[in-house]
Amino acid sequence: MTKPRGAICNLDCAYCYYLAKERLYPDSDHRMADNLLAEYTRQFIEAQTAREITFTWQGGEPTLMGLDFFQQAIRYQQQYRKPGMRLQNSLQTNGVLLDDEWCAFFKAYDFLIGISLDGPRALHDHYRVDKGGQPTFDRVLRGVRFLQQHGVEFNVLTTVHAANENHGLEVYRFLRDEVGIRYIQFIPIVEHLEVQEANPVTARSVSGAGYGRFLIDVFEEWVRHDVGQVYVQMFDVALAAWVGDAPGLCVFEETCGAALAMEHTGDVYSCDHFVEPQHLVGNIVDVPLSAIAVSDQQRAFGAAKRDSLPRYCRDCSVRFVCHGGCPKDRFNVTPDGEAGLNYLCAGYQAFFEHIRPAMEYMAAELTRQRPPASIMVTMARRDAELRERLAHTGRNDPCPCGSGLKFKKCHGRRVM
Ligand code: SF4
Ligand code: SF4
Repeated sequence: MTKPRGAICNLDCAYCYYLAKERLYPDSDHRMADNLLAEYTRQFIEAQTAREITFTWQGGEPTLMGLDFFQQAIRYQQQYRKPGMRLQNSLQTNGVLLDDEWCAFFKAYDFLIGISLDGPRALHDHYRVDKGGQPTFDRVLRGVRFLQQHGVEFNVLTTVHAANENHGLEVYRFLRDEVGIRYIQFIPIVEHLEVQEANPVTARSVSGAGYGRFLIDVFEEWVRHDVGQVYVQMFDVALAAWVGDAPGLCVFEETCGAALAMEHTGDVYSCDHFVEPQHLVGNIVDVPLSAIAVSDQQRAFGAAKRDSLPRYCRDCSVRFVCHGGCPKDRFNVTPDGEAGLNYLCAGYQAFFEHIRPAMEYMAAELTRQRPPASIMVTMARRDAELRERLAHTGRNDPCPCGSGLKFKKCHGRRVM
């Protein structure tokens, strides 16, 4: 992950963890120099053995480098490309600078774009504002429309936080139906207070339970209507775990350490979430990127994710899919007092247990080489059967949904 403009951004999202990183480079212009771009491109390509490699551009806001920078990046990629190698680029943006020129370029060079959008207007604008504190929803949606008009491949990155955690279904339906998104990533906001207090997260952070509820609400909609049509990263990750494949997302890998982040100076850090002096692994001008990636420091960083897992996680029924989550969020204690439990644990446990039956069904379908989308037929049949039983249930009878509650306290309170 490369940050050619460092932490510089044209927005001022309230929950952003990266804006403060500008202070690491107080005398810098925060722009990757041309000779460093050339050197990075050469080293990155040289270090790869795969035939297909991806350059990942992030920020801050990478489009603040201007289109010229990325045109030059493509020239260097073509110059250093090994025979038979396929090069790709992905770029994460807030979307507000996108226009015809940017999107024609992205299309021409096959960029995969990630664009940040937190839901409908009120939920998006709650925290995603510009430097003047003004809302950004219209400008982001305008960027999305440019991407769509040019046929650029893109996904939406939606953060889940205090303002939208109770609106999972609304957010999902908005993205799917009103914006026409087919690829979605949900990222929990867990934002630390600088001063350690009893609750070390800000009021903007999602709650652990709230994150689980949000994901469950989205899943219940997706599993009935959208399997094979809409791709939600978290659900793909879970299904991969249920079929025994690698999750494809560092947060749920047993170990991590492959998500190095490079600042505009060539300084390489262990991870985008650990851009701090103690996690600086080296600078590519002094040490080749290939050596940085396999250095003892970086290996230790990646292994610590597994080796520091508390017993509570090691004994957990969903460890195989969760693996304790990201180390940056492991600042709670377990019920038996051991440090290192993930702040989001309650949500992870609730979500992964909730989706277990559906995942087992879909994993079995995949094993038989049948499309997992058949679960939608099964869900429709089960829903119809439940509706039929609900229609004949007395107010004080046990609810037929299996909740263990009386009907009047469960489905009897609302019409299906
Ligand atoms: S620290 Fe977290 S975000 Fe960074 S590589 Fe590890 S799991 Fe991924
Ligand atoms: S769900 Fe909680 S206990 Fe289980 S592995 Fe994840 S963080 Fe650990």
